[in-house]
Amino acid sequence: MTPVVLITGASRGIGAATALLAARSGWAVAVNFASQAGKAQAVVDQIKAHGGQAVALQADVSQQEEIQRLFADIDREFAAIGPLRGLVNNAGIVDQVARVDELSFARVERMMRLNVVSPFMCCKEAVLRMSTRHGGKGGSIVNLSSAASRLGGAAQYVDYAASKGAIDSLTLGLAKEVAAEGVRVNGVRPGMIDTEIHASGGLPNRVRDLAPQMPMGRAGTAQEVAHAIVWFLNDASSYCTGSILDVAGAR
Ligand code: NAP
Repeated sequence: MTPVVLITGASRGIGAATALLAARSGWAVAVNFASQAGKAQAVVDQIKAHGGQAVALQADVSQQEEIQRLFADIDREFAAIGPLRGLVNNAGIVDQVARVDELSFARVERMMRLNVVSPFMCCKEAVLRMSTRHGGKGGSIVNLSSAASRLGGAAQYVDYAASKGAIDSLTLGLAKEVAAEGVRVNGVRPGMIDTEIHASGGLPNRVRDLAPQMPMGRAGTAQEVAHAIVWFLNDASSYCTGSILDVAGAR
């Protein structure tokens, strides 16, 4: 049997890089995406071209019913391959630059639904399948936080920073809850990484403009973050749980 990992938001950016690296490391990968089916399929095709196993699964993980459908799809699609032993809570959004006194209720609610509620519910579904308390054989969960959780995001997006603060607390608390049940829970806190997330927040040149101000003089790459995530997924990190690793180039 091959261990299965679900990576939310794996059609591009850090999620796609993690999917490719996890597959090389022996995981069968559920490549979740929201809207970009072609990009998700390209990730699956690349994994298969190297002899790996992967399936692209559409689901908007900010929606309760779609999370439940996604996990049901995984149970069915991977039944003959192996059990779910990994979860990477990667899907996340930023929004336009705004001060707190400019934020709308709808914006903060949308941010918290995807960046906080969704990882909570995905953790719940994963623990129900992985925890020895529920008859599972253990597993590893990795939550994508952000350096913003400790920087605060002032005058940019405090709502985003706060959503990642919640992820840090989820990681610490859930790790203790399931530590004796074979499930490890860790977090990765990237700094500024060169992906399309910045353009989706209305700042397509953010990396180019801010890279010279970064301590290392550059942004990080999705691959550099993926290496940390896959290390947490694998047994190489077997005594790490409740750990949060900065991959932020001293930011
Ligand atoms: P990205 O390039 O914008 O990719 C986002 C991914 O999430 C896409 O695959 C997208 O799928 C998916 N997605 C968006 N909404 C979704 C939804 N409702 N349901 C399912 N999937 C959804 O982002 P990234 O930069 O790789 O960031 C990945 C994670 O790292 C996020 O949690 C982010 O907060 C965190 N992070 C990033 C940085 C950075 O500088 N890039 C820094 C710190 C932390 P579709 O394309 O199909 O919609």
